[in-house]
Amino acid sequence: MDKYGILKKYFGYDTFRNAQEALIDHILEGKDTVGIMPTGAGKSLCYQIPALLMEGITLVVSPLISLMKDQVGSLNQAGVHAAYLNSSLTMNQYYKALGLAKQGRYPIIYVAPERLVTEEFLDFAINARIAMVAVDEAHCVSQWGQDFRPSYLKIVEFIGRLPRRPVVSAFTATATREVRDDIIDILQLQDPLVMTTGFDRNNLYFGVMTVKDRYAAIRNYLEMHKNDSGIIYCLTRKQVEEVCGRLREDGFQATRYHAGLSDEERRKNQDDFIYDRTPVMVSTNAFGMGIDKSNVRFVLHFGMPKNIESYYQEAGRAGRDGEPAECILYYSSRDVVTNQLFIENNQDNQELDETARAMVRERDKERLKKMTFYCFTNECLRDYILKYFGEYGSNYCGNCSNCLTQFEQVDVTEIARALAGCVESSRQRYGTTVIIDTLHGANTAKIRNYRMDANPYYGALAKIPAYRIRQVLNYLQLEEYLFVTNDDYAVVKLTMKSRELLEEGRQLVMKLAKEPDRPVKERGSKGGKDKKTLPGEGQFTSREEKLFEKLRGLRTEIAREEKVPPYIVFSDKTLTHMCLVKPSNREEMMRVSGVGEFKFDKYGERFLACLREELRNP
Ligand code: ADP
Ligand code: MG
Ligand code: ZN
Repeated sequence: MDKYGILKKYFGYDTFRNAQEALIDHILEGKDTVGIMPTGAGKSLCYQIPALLMEGITLVVSPLISLMKDQVGSLNQAGVHAAYLNSSLTMNQYYKALGLAKQGRYPIIYVAPERLVTEEFLDFAINARIAMVAVDEAHCVSQWGQDFRPSYLKIVEFIGRLPRRPVVSAFTATATREVRDDIIDILQLQDPLVMTTGFDRNNLYFGVMTVKDRYAAIRNYLEMHKNDSGIIYCLTRKQVEEVCGRLREDGFQATRYHAGLSDEERRKNQDDFIYDRTPVMVSTNAFGMGIDKSNVRFVLHFGMPKNIESYYQEAGRAGRDGEPAECILYYSSRDVVTNQLFIENNQDNQELDETARAMVRERDKERLKKMTFYCFTNECLRDYILKYFGEYGSNYCGNCSNCLTQFEQVDVTEIARALAGCVESSRQRYGTTVIIDTLHGANTAKIRNYRMDANPYYGALAKIPAYRIRQVLNYLQLEEYLFVTNDDYAVVKLTMKSRELLEEGRQLVMKLAKEPDRPVKERGSKGGKDKKTLPGEGQFTSREEKLFEKLRGLRTEIAREEKVPPYIVFSDKTLTHMCLVKPSNREEMMRVSGVGEFKFDKYGERFLACLREELRNP
């Protein structure tokens, strides 16, 4: 069988995605290979398919037990013999698995990095024929990344101990140059092919919402997405407790995850989420690494993360199956303060001296600023993210809250001038709130204390709503007409460009959302119905909706029998495709994306029966 045969037979797919084929070919030629592709792009197949074609065993190094379990579960479901060797096994189980490995039972074995150089394992590996070492989540070798794992440094030592050097392949979603260079250097790759694919995830919708009551907004969102599974990220443990508690009181099935819970509760809650027993996970950023759940339909952020890297990583946990999914950030200006405190109190870099720590803080504040600008910008959000990572996007993606909002050009010259004038006349000493309150003519103790009620600009913009003044202030920051300091007081300062604002005849126009007939920003054109479509296919009819729910029910039943997460039985995408194709026999069923031979033999008939019954009496 060739690579296409394997792709179809075991994984049920007809075609490779963009970089997959080149990576696979390169490995099969016996050359070292690095694949840098975003989450959900399909990195696993890039080493699993060669593993099934090469003579000998492929060892996959993976950082987390949950990841290994998931992947091995998936492979077993697809009819591939695979095993994992890590600390979750008892001594007995470990030796049993190793025994079977020695007999050549497994073409693919997942190993925890710290196991590699143990005596038993080395003894096995030296006497077996190791065709490839595939390093998954390879950024873990780099100290630059957020997930550095010292045990990953053992990989090279292990490879050095083998009698014959295997092919070494490495995969990650982390794109920075430092990390990529580290992977090549530290793993000592020999003249590797490095393939990087674009970082755009076009099935993800991006949205930013600034709302008064964030909890209410999130609750509404869940109301509208009753059957979907998703994650709600909060900034603090306290927020997690609050949001999760209120959701439960309001009758939603939600569970929680943060570092303050016992290991046992964390494990249980995580499993409940993965196995679709509880659809909604409320968590801090402690949750997510090692979650391969493919049917996460939304990732909501109750609060803004500390930088775009974290945001894209967290949001990117949505829609791994390639089906439409939504990532919405609910922003409040308080989040900036919370994150500033995190940065000030960061205890991570104890080994650095004070100067170096100050530099790190400065860098983190700069990143926070870029994150904050994401929440202010009226331009395409996807484009903003891609540019941040050094890619060229298009200015219009059509699938983010800004692209889907109608804007108008508004002349904000007067507001901008008043802002700059107020900052100048108060000698650049005050923060954003004082400046805005002054312009708006607020009568607060603080304003009186600072004597800002005597400032020539006091009340100059009394007729303009405060939020509008803030919008313009944000815009001036974004365009560098004004600058807000990074310290605790966040003082507004003038910049080189501020002068331009005060020049005679100068006009400043900005894009603002149209007020009266504003479309529902959050959802845009993506109604519930057209969610489950494949490119080039029509929308779901109500009958198909019903069919989908039926099939989903059957999937849950089977998952329970097999003791695997539902998405491992069939992905949402496969069920969707099944609803559209409506297969009535084996041949037709085998055309559904994600239905391979082995899975058909196992469950095909049950799904066919379910389809038949549903289609007979709709
Ligand atoms: P990554 O490790 O890059 O985040 P995975 O390897 O977990 O991504 O794959 C994500 C999803 O994409 C899985 O559900 C997988 O079955 C699916 N997939 C991978 N390759 C293909 C393909 N060629 N055609 C269709 N689906 C694919
Ligand atoms: Mg992966
Ligand atoms: Zn866009």
